[in-house]
Amino acid sequence: MQHVLEAIEADASSEDFANLELPESYRAALVRADDTEMFAGKESWEKDPRESLRIEDVPLPEMAPDEVVIGVMASSINFNTVWTSIFEPLPTFGFLKRLGRESEWGARHDLPYHIVGSDASAVVLRTGSAVRNWKPGDRVVVHCNHVDDQDPSAHNDSMLASNQRIWGFETNFGGLADLAVVKANQLMPKPSHLSWEESAVNGLCASTSYRMLVSDNASRMKQGDNVLIWGATGGLGGYAVQLVLNGGGVPIGVVSSPDKAELLNSIGCEAVIDRKAEAYKFWSDEHTQDESEWRRFGKQIRGLIGEDPDIVFEHPGRQTMGASVFAAKRGGTVVTCAATSGFMIEYDNRHLWMKLKRIVSSHFANYQEAWDMNRLIDMGAIQPILSATYKLEESAEAAYQVHNNLHEGKLGVLCMAPEEGQGITDPEKRERIGEDKITAFARHAASIKA
Ligand code: NAP
Repeated sequence: MQHVLEAIEADASSEDFANLELPESYRAALVRADDTEMFAGKESWEKDPRESLRIEDVPLPEMAPDEVVIGVMASSINFNTVWTSIFEPLPTFGFLKRLGRESEWGARHDLPYHIVGSDASAVVLRTGSAVRNWKPGDRVVVHCNHVDDQDPSAHNDSMLASNQRIWGFETNFGGLADLAVVKANQLMPKPSHLSWEESAVNGLCASTSYRMLVSDNASRMKQGDNVLIWGATGGLGGYAVQLVLNGGGVPIGVVSSPDKAELLNSIGCEAVIDRKAEAYKFWSDEHTQDESEWRRFGKQIRGLIGEDPDIVFEHPGRQTMGASVFAAKRGGTVVTCAATSGFMIEYDNRHLWMKLKRIVSSHFANYQEAWDMNRLIDMGAIQPILSATYKLEESAEAAYQVHNNLHEGKLGVLCMAPEEGQGITDPEKRERIGEDKITAFARHAASIKA
């Protein structure tokens, strides 16, 4: 891999990149099909990604005509890597088998190991014969919407495609690796003012938040909207807060510590609820929700902003959905993309229909939405929320941190990039946007550690 890295560092020509010999095998973070029963009988919180997520050498798969081989400089930990590594709610090998049955090229994915990772900043090393817009040497970021564009259902909103998948979760050959094979229609230009790890952390979470809040496909936030954001310093929430501020809205951030509250204040979110300090207990027991706690929560929101939220940005799921439906304003929207604390949801339907609220579902983003989000990052309107950076061989530790909610923002992972801070090609632009803004999450994490 050293010669590939040297070509990247020397900014070699496209022709030189095209002539580079590609290694036959590469390092990758993966789980093994043989291990899917290893946590049998354990609770979710007891399942430890450090036992299941391994770093191994794997053979480089053949590239299809509409694909590219990329040298991955950095990647990030997403919650889907946590799900894969604890084999919940299902082992992801079933997804690979289904893809394997779909086509000859799909069959490559059905392996006894699953290479995970749904984000990457990278350099294009090879392009398939059908690739038009990219060439070897291009510096790119990768979004994770894996779509077969020969399917008619993929041509209005590709997230509605019948065979839409999340790369590195429902497909193999993910981004937590030195190399990856991705479809050319997953590529976007790398923001020139960001390092490899700063540009690697945005794709999945920022694009998901963009669709949930900004796109016509979900809640269509307007200027002035009040938006209640659960997990406001987490992967999704850290971008959601910025999108609300950038779009002229008022974010109300919910977090679980004074440190996180301070971080939110530092990026301009003034209305903050520390759910732990307030000791909210929306469920009085496993089967019963406590409406008086919903009311206390709603009252606190009104106390902070004087109104009810137009939009509630939901993803914790079972623990919070009852409160979210209650707290949304009359005619307001709860937009949901996940259910970290449980997917069998309960809420009081009377609060939904009598007050004409709606629940809108959302899932990742189509290419256009991911592209528009990447453009905002490239413009410096939205900042990466990288808080700490790990090495590829520490991927399991990083996944453990995310699984146990020990992190803030996003955790980056260096793959081929030998150290942090590399890959910035426009330092003047970086200076214009402001080092302080770009590194707010990382500086905050460092200050807590110190
Ligand atoms: P994350 O970085 O772990 O952040 C989630 C935040 O949610 C945490 O920081 C935590 O904040 C808060 N939280 C966790 N459990 C909670 C609970 N029981 N009650 C209230 N708040 C809780 O994860 P993420 O990347 O934002 O992802 C969140 C969820 O969305 C995951 O389930 C992930 O799989 C899913 N997701 C879905 C999509 C999609 O396309 N559908 C895309 C990205 C992520 P505090 O402790 O500070 O409150």
